[in-house]
Amino acid sequence: MRKIFLTLPKYRLAVQYKFIKRRKVNVDESIIPTPKTLRKKYRVGGYTRRFFRHIFEHKRIKKLLGANMAIMLVATSLMPTSTLGKGVVEENTVITNSNIPLTTEKSVQYPVQNLVITQGYKFYHPGLDIDGLTGDSINPIKKGIVVEVSYSRFAYGNSVIVDHGNKLTTLYAHLSKIDVEEGQEVNTHTKLGEMGATGRSFGDHLHLEVRDHGIPINPFSVLPR
Ligand SMILES: [Zn+2]
Repeated sequence: MRKIFLTLPKYRLAVQYKFIKRRKVNVDESIIPTPKTLRKKYRVGGYTRRFFRHIFEHKRIKKLLGANMAIMLVATSLMPTSTLGKGVVEENTVITNSNIPLTTEKSVQYPVQNLVITQGYKFYHPGLDIDGLTGDSINPIKKGIVVEVSYSRFAYGNSVIVDHGNKLTTLYAHLSKIDVEEGQEVNTHTKLGEMGATGRSFGDHLHLEVRDHGIPINPFSVLPR
């Protein structure tokens, strides 16, 4: 590059000429090079490296790629979206299992027929107190396995613990009668026992606890509201 700098103070002009010597491009150079041209053109790298360098640096390749990209952009924008999405739709086809029961069963329910909550879940009361009468049928809130049946005159009184899997368990306390035994599989239709006032209870009611990893949680986080 050569520079010529002219200052013409009289005309308040400064003219700058730049003579830039453009690198001569050998247009006739073939796209697929011969090992000889590669050796001459690039000093470093093995044959493969030189080969690909030649390909990517080739003017005609660049031109060709540029043109192709432009064509592709136009083509995709003109293509109707339905053709583009067709394959995706087909892949999303759901194969339905014929064994799915047609009657939908409630997976989570309240343990009693008539729900009257007399005490909610608080920090000093880790469950729900559901009012009723001795003899009212108690059902598990969810299917599971009976893991504990205990008879007591204190605290929870006669109680049942059902394991629902995923570390979720439920406790049914103050029962007057227990109809299940440990290890028994139960579902929402199974009668666990009957409401009572055993243990520390001031009257007929069910004390229900929902436990996650053994720790009481708000039963409403599991039960439908
Ligand atoms: Zn209670």
